[in-house]
Amino acid sequence: MDFTFRCNFLKCRAVLDDCAIVTTCSHIFCLQCAENQGLANATLDRRICPACDTRLNNPDDVVKSVLNPSEDYKTSILSGLSPTVIMECAGRALQFYTYQTTQEIIYQEHISKALSDKYHGLNQQLDQLVFEANSEIKKLQSKLEGIQPHPPSPLVHSLTNETAVTADQQALTKRNQELVDAFREKSKSHSFIQQMYNKLKSEVLESNVATAASENVDKVLEAGGHENPFANALGSRSLASRTGHSTTKLRDERIAEGSKPRRRVSGLFANEGQRVPLANPSGPSCNSTRGLGLGSCECARHIS
Ligand SMILES: [Zn+2]
Ligand SMILES: [Zn+2]
Repeated sequence: MDFTFRCNFLKCRAVLDDCAIVTTCSHIFCLQCAENQGLANATLDRRICPACDTRLNNPDDVVKSVLNPSEDYKTSILSGLSPTVIMECAGRALQFYTYQTTQEIIYQEHISKALSDKYHGLNQQLDQLVFEANSEIKKLQSKLEGIQPHPPSPLVHSLTNETAVTADQQALTKRNQELVDAFREKSKSHSFIQQMYNKLKSEVLESNVATAASENVDKVLEAGGHENPFANALGSRSLASRTGHSTTKLRDERIAEGSKPRRRVSGLFANEGQRVPLANPSGPSCNSTRGLGLGSCECARHIS
């Protein structure tokens, strides 16, 4: 592999493949750097090598060299010289080449060393980061082993509560519907029982009224028979002649009729045109047969 020269100005290091400026101190520069650093235009007493600060006062200390010489140049450049001079020139040229390659190797070694140092530094940082990461992972794992399971997140907790509320609402709605159905059944039963109670109550009241009326009739008839035999006999005949029945038979019929419902008019019961006053336990009772239309009465109630 052929070695390629580079500009020895470290800030340039351009690849030299055509022409270059060479010095007797074995350094080589590109044309741009030679001009900028004062090798091309400076006076002889002010020329200093930019690489090694060697004074280059002689005219041949700095020359322009063709790196790709033509065949004619190769033929004429050493022509006319003695073999000793030719070998001396070739030897010095080889020293120049050796120096440049050695400097390039040293430069590459410095770069390699710098890169190695950088690599080792980064590797140590990486090892430190890995160690710290492993330590942190171990701490977190130990915490996870010691910590109880986390409570559900707010979102999951909210969804769980919403689901529970919905289930409770559905259960309450179902329970409410069951209670409404049960209330309707109870209302029907209560209404039926109330009707039965009213019917039985009315029957009992009617039975009591009929019994009281029959007893009152018996008392009236018996009282009339003991106190006024004439009126009793007259009343009996008159009643018997009017209805065609005997007194005993008439009483039996009235007792039988007492169990039937009667229409109440102003405190009296209207029954086939005959009016019988109700018994009044608190006031004086009238035993006259006037109420039956069978005779006159002289008591205070009927006189007034
Ligand atoms: Zn340069
Ligand atoms: Zn130099």
